[in-house]
Amino acid sequence: MSLAERLARPEILALPAVDIAGAPVAGTIRLDANENPFESLVSGQPAINRYPDPQPAQLRQRMAGLYGVPAESLWVTRGSDDAIDLLIRGFCRAGVDSVGIVEPTFSAYAQFARVQGAAVIAARLTSDLEFDADAVLAAMAPAALKLLFLCTPNNPTGTPVDPADVRRIAAALPDTLVVADEAYGEFSNCPSLAAEAGPIPNLVVLKTLSKAYGLAGARVGCAVADPSIIDLLARVSPPYPLPGPSIAAALATLGPERMPVHAERIARLLAERDRLLGQLGDTEGVRRVRAGGNFLFLEVERPEELAQRLAAAAIRVRFRAKAAPGGVRVTVGTEAENQALLAAFGLTREAGSSRRAEIVRDTNETRIALAIDLDRAEPRRIASGIPFYDHMLDQVAAHGGFSLVLACEGDLTIDPHHSVEDIAIALGTALKQALGDKRGIGRFGFALPMDETRAEVLIDLSGRPFARFEGSFASAAVGGLPTELVPHIFRSLADSLGAAVHVRVDGENDHHKVEGCFKALGRALRTAVALEGRGDALPSTKGVL
Ligand SMILES: *Cc1c(COP(=O)(O)O)cnc(C)c1O
Repeated sequence: MSLAERLARPEILALPAVDIAGAPVAGTIRLDANENPFESLVSGQPAINRYPDPQPAQLRQRMAGLYGVPAESLWVTRGSDDAIDLLIRGFCRAGVDSVGIVEPTFSAYAQFARVQGAAVIAARLTSDLEFDADAVLAAMAPAALKLLFLCTPNNPTGTPVDPADVRRIAAALPDTLVVADEAYGEFSNCPSLAAEAGPIPNLVVLKTLSKAYGLAGARVGCAVADPSIIDLLARVSPPYPLPGPSIAAALATLGPERMPVHAERIARLLAERDRLLGQLGDTEGVRRVRAGGNFLFLEVERPEELAQRLAAAAIRVRFRAKAAPGGVRVTVGTEAENQALLAAFGLTREAGSSRRAEIVRDTNETRIALAIDLDRAEPRRIASGIPFYDHMLDQVAAHGGFSLVLACEGDLTIDPHHSVEDIAIALGTALKQALGDKRGIGRFGFALPMDETRAEVLIDLSGRPFARFEGSFASAAVGGLPTELVPHIFRSLADSLGAAVHVRVDGENDHHKVEGCFKALGRALRTAVALEGRGDALPSTKGVL
């Protein structure tokens, strides 16, 4: 008998398997699910007249890869909220079993337990809001504790739970499922326990795409555990828990070409979190600040006064007096939002300029994700699929003095053409967006000698696209980049950026000539996008104001 069978509600074990139509099979006529046979009248959602896959294999596989676990140990749920509910419904008998929590913590654990009629046994963090494993074990002594929820880092206090403590608690409570909720794990230094769920038979790890992957509205999360526990969750799941558009959104956002932009966003949020931590920590009226996840937990002296000031600035935060006197949970927002928050605390520094843009561009031929920041020189991470093109784009960003994170999954097996051109379009679009109203920007140029080569790029960010390319190449390709595409790149860029771009290049060596064009483009852009008269006010390349 597996642990799951031993701990599960007997009536769940006795249930017959759910009888549903199952996943569609290509080439079959589907008259088994009472669906409407006509395509939906919602544009861009062709398949939603059909029921979705109850457990989409591709997404399950992708999430398993993301968290480094076998697919059969992972169950995709409608947000990790749903995983909490499924666990409680699968294992807790009303009026008999109990659920353990460590307060103050995420309210859903106790909420779902009460809906199911399970008792809630609460331990507490220490008065310093630290996690004390011995105190937790002492509080969890009663029998029939089916589930113990450990949130790490904890919402709302940010307290991390040392993975060694989770292992120790799981070993000490062999007849309890210990659930490590890692909703904010991506924002924490603590290593994930996901790969240990299964090898440790009573450990369950919860993950979500809501926080780090920006998909709160799609409701996609998962539970990772021994397959016998996963099997039990499947029995309690509703027949079609995951809406088709949510499955599609999750697969799109977890595309490999999206990952560099996710990583860059997480890094930015952490840098902003640390900036807020530093500034709010020194603020009068703020007794203590902790950082965890993508949020801060403050303990303030006069919460009512703060509430008024935040309300006046139309800033919403969560007051958590029960978690700690004067407790306030504040989510880390964009730079501009955080600046508004600091202003509400009376910390009125000049707002840093924020000229950044993110572009995702998917066609049948390429999938591109790109983030650009004109006010930072780092990071530069470029993966076009064509190493020499990476090098050229890196030259543009390095000489342009801006940060560029770019990844493309393209049909390179057919031809580099689509990737090369689509990336140029995406880059131009991003530059245009990041420039905003382009105030104070005019005509700029740069001429660049490189050994025997002379390259010149003139740029006018006028909003009127025009491209002229004077020069020719003797070889068909340089480093896998077809030279015939070089003029196309400048044209695509001019069109999407809305700029007049004049390029002139002559010399002997095609490698120098191509590289000269890109470097000169970077140099011309550097002056074109610079904010006039405020060089010293720009954020440093380290991103610290
Ligand atoms: C936000 C949050 C969740 C819920 O995530 P969803 O996947 O959106 O349901 C779970 N646990 C904690 C601790 C959270 O803060």
